[in-house]
Amino acid sequence: MSLSGTYDDQNIFAKIIAGDAPAIKIFEDDVAVAFMDIFPQSPGHCLVVPKEPARNLLDLSEDMAAKAIQRVQKLARAVEAALQPDGIVVTQFNGAPAGQTVFHIHFHIIPRWEDVPLGRHGGKQADMDELAAQARKIASFLD
Ligand code: AMP
Repeated sequence: MSLSGTYDDQNIFAKIIAGDAPAIKIFEDDVAVAFMDIFPQSPGHCLVVPKEPARNLLDLSEDMAAKAIQRVQKLARAVEAALQPDGIVVTQFNGAPAGQTVFHIHFHIIPRWEDVPLGRHGGKQADMDELAAQARKIASFLD
């Protein structure tokens, strides 16, 4: 798919936003929804998905880009408080060659620990009960 393509409203994140597909949610408001990544690269890997139907950061309106990064910061702070990682990586991919696989704008929040290697992107599906427990814990630290 090209970087500037047509938005496909049947993508999995559009379905999650619409309530037509399940997700282990941490947070939701009128701007974005945050939920656990089901193929986590580390424990606590979660996603912030702006609700605006945009394929990537280049398509997103400036207003939503500003609001979305505030949600990313809010979630990253809650992840830090809940899981006490040594570091947090925030990533966002634009276009398949850049590593994007779901073509609805989203940000990854990936906690990192010293000496723990990063899992493969889209690697192994996590245990859903573990993800739900992580989501509850992170949500309990949201301000
Ligand atoms: P990207 O490569 O940035 O497009 O990443 C898409 C991310 O979405 C990957 O890390 C996947 O593991 C994750 N993912 C795909 N489907 C789902 C889903 N149904 N629920 C939660 N995360 C998902």
